[in-house]
Amino acid sequence: MKVVDIKIFVVNPTAAEKFDGIGHLYRGGINYVVVKVLTDEGIYGVGEGTLHASELAVVAALKNFRELIIGKDPRNIEDIWHFLHRSTYWRGGPIFKTAIAAIDMALWDIKGKLANMPVYQLLGGACRKGVLVYRHADGRDPKEVADNVRKWLERGYKVVRAQMGGYGGSGKLKFEPPEREGLPGTTYFEPTRYLIEVPKLFEHLRSELGMEVELLHDVHEQISPIEAAQLAKSLEPYRLFFLEDPVSPEQKDALAFIRSQTTTPLAIGEIFCDREQIIPLFINRLIDYIRIAPLHVGGITEARKIMTLAEPFGVKSAFHGAADLGPISQAAAVHLQMSVHNFGVQEWTDFRSIQVFCDLFPTPCEVSDGYAYPNEAAGLGIDFNEEIAPRFPYSPVYMPQIRRADGTVHGY
Ligand code: MG
Repeated sequence: MKVVDIKIFVVNPTAAEKFDGIGHLYRGGINYVVVKVLTDEGIYGVGEGTLHASELAVVAALKNFRELIIGKDPRNIEDIWHFLHRSTYWRGGPIFKTAIAAIDMALWDIKGKLANMPVYQLLGGACRKGVLVYRHADGRDPKEVADNVRKWLERGYKVVRAQMGGYGGSGKLKFEPPEREGLPGTTYFEPTRYLIEVPKLFEHLRSELGMEVELLHDVHEQISPIEAAQLAKSLEPYRLFFLEDPVSPEQKDALAFIRSQTTTPLAIGEIFCDREQIIPLFINRLIDYIRIAPLHVGGITEARKIMTLAEPFGVKSAFHGAADLGPISQAAAVHLQMSVHNFGVQEWTDFRSIQVFCDLFPTPCEVSDGYAYPNEAAGLGIDFNEEIAPRFPYSPVYMPQIRRADGTVHGY
């Protein structure tokens, strides 16, 4: 069996319209990178290489990889993974790991189709009935956030992320429109008000919703290590499921200090892409949940290894799953998390509820009563409708820009 071609697509089904319930509304939409790995036996596999706002860099890497793996046996997933990883010489990083992930997912899809089994069966079978997911609630004030958390609970969801005013929340001072049409504007942020208001938000949520419902909060790396320690400590009475991305990857060594100050569970890693960044967090017991996504660490093959490395240290998965990780990578994440013992929770975007995603990606994973389920068809159980892809062309997208009050550049 041989790979005969890799087709690469970029589709932006979200550029023109707004969608309720997608979790985020991104300016310019989201460009999803999709591959189809074709074989000489007529079987093909689908994979995803979306890297929001850097999609075309991944496409360039994929074009290189295409030339390298045409003629290879697609059944040799492990060998192809290492071959691609070393083929660049300057290896690793988000662009190459995402490109490898796209091909890796497609190869698992092919293997599943060959075996006539869903991928989670090939990975060891089901460890649970379904994959617990969390949704996003936001609002302008604590009352509105509580109302929006309740809406998810009423729909059967068990875990809800609570924000007030998006990332950085009430720390946002003002928004400046972009210098040129098509570019992102700039939001100005200072942490003081944010650090004061977040504990008040959770005090209100607990008084309204009780202590049992599972709530979490995403700091989105907006604060310094000492501020993160203060926040995690002040949130302790409100029993968070976890505090997400309390610091940036550059400050990950400070997690030891933060942990020494608080028992609030910590989750980090949604922009990590290499195991070398992650393993010290396990060994030194700095986190409770690892937020990688198969999409950005090299696919199912590498994400499974990272979860195996996490297992002896009691670290669970909390895979990244915002709307800029599309339905194919979501399916790959669900298959993997069905099959690992140390599963925690999966961030969720309900693509299945949006018609255009069902048309383009027949069919996204189903969610019911707070749990996601893999499709039982052979392989990943999801396809890509290339016939309608030209209706959703690429459109440029840039990440939001953040600066401090004095104009200093700050991370998103
Ligand atoms: Mg996050």
